[in-house]
Amino acid sequence: MTEEFIYDCIIIGAGPGGLQAAIYLGRYNRRVLLIDRGGGRTTHARHIENFLTQKAITGREIIELGMEQARNFHVEIKKGVVTKVAKGANFEVYAGDVRYLARFVLVSTGATENFPSIESLHKFLGTTLFTCIDCDGYRTTNKKLVIIGNSIKTVHLAIAMKEMYTRDLTLILYTDKAPEEYKEELKEENIGLIIGRPVRFIGDEKLEAVEMHDGRKIPCEVVMSHFGYKLNDSFLGGLNLKRDRDNFKFITNSTFESSLSGLYIVGPLIGNDQVVIAAGEGAVAAIELKKRLIEV
Ligand SMILES: Cc1cc2nc3c(=O)[nH]c(=O)nc-3n(C[C@H](O)[C@H](O)[C@H](O)COP(=O)(O)OP(=O)(O)OC[C@H]3O[C@@H](n4cnc5c(N)ncnc54)[C@H](O)[C@@H]3O)c2cc1C
Repeated sequence: MTEEFIYDCIIIGAGPGGLQAAIYLGRYNRRVLLIDRGGGRTTHARHIENFLTQKAITGREIIELGMEQARNFHVEIKKGVVTKVAKGANFEVYAGDVRYLARFVLVSTGATENFPSIESLHKFLGTTLFTCIDCDGYRTTNKKLVIIGNSIKTVHLAIAMKEMYTRDLTLILYTDKAPEEYKEELKEENIGLIIGRPVRFIGDEKLEAVEMHDGRKIPCEVVMSHFGYKLNDSFLGGLNLKRDRDNFKFITNSTFESSLSGLYIVGPLIGNDQVVIAAGEGAVAAIELKKRLIEV
């Protein structure tokens, strides 16, 4: 153990939420440490076109620009994996074999997509294989679409996608049982229903079809994958933070402070999975931290 310097705030995760908070806190001339392990979800987004002032930008560019902006305001950035956060007189943040101390902590570590094992999935991810209606639903407009998922929520997604984007839609449910209560509605909506296990995405440059375990090939131009995500929250385990009724998302107040005083959480960990929202939450939390730091 080294480092007994006390930061004003340690930010964990350099996605849009963490970076936006870092930029604000840096511009308040606060001592800020940002720890990030790299390779977050935003870097998988290849065409972000719903962020104000950007006609189209890659997630990677947003992160690189954000890092540069934060550094320019003297935010210290370290690459590392945070394994534990504890609270004593100060917050203790553990990364590798180093313990860092801070008055406040802001967590913006996002989530990790649940994907079934399907060959060539990563080849098409972000270009013709999407995971989020708000991010990429628009890109399926008037295209031959296959939706793959494993829950009744996927049926609801299919009906919504039909309403907004395309009439040419097949739903593949990766389950054993057909959703009897929705069969009639899907038929009325003219949405093809297939029950079974997809094993491969077919196509050289362009996506052409989804191959099923029984050899059937379902032609498509675009795919929406709908298997949810898990939160990157293992390092918060010892803090007993309050979560929602499903024991999934963390509960925060209107400035994104969790049930533990001084620990702020933004982004998908509290349920919002958009760059602009994560960034906005980071800004709100940082403005609140500005006030709290003056009071300390
Ligand atoms: C394919 C794809 C396309 C998308 N398209 C859009 C779009 O068009 N528009 C839009 O608004 N949103 C889009 N999104 C969603 C957007 O990426 C998320 O909303 C955004 O990532 C949330 O920001 P964040 O700050 O929480 O985290 P993230 O970008 O997930 O960043 C979290 C960071 O924390 C780091 N981290 C995690 N655990 C640890 C740890 N223990 N220690 C240290 N660091 C850690 C990660 O490595 C990562 O760098 C898309 C997502 C995907 C996957």
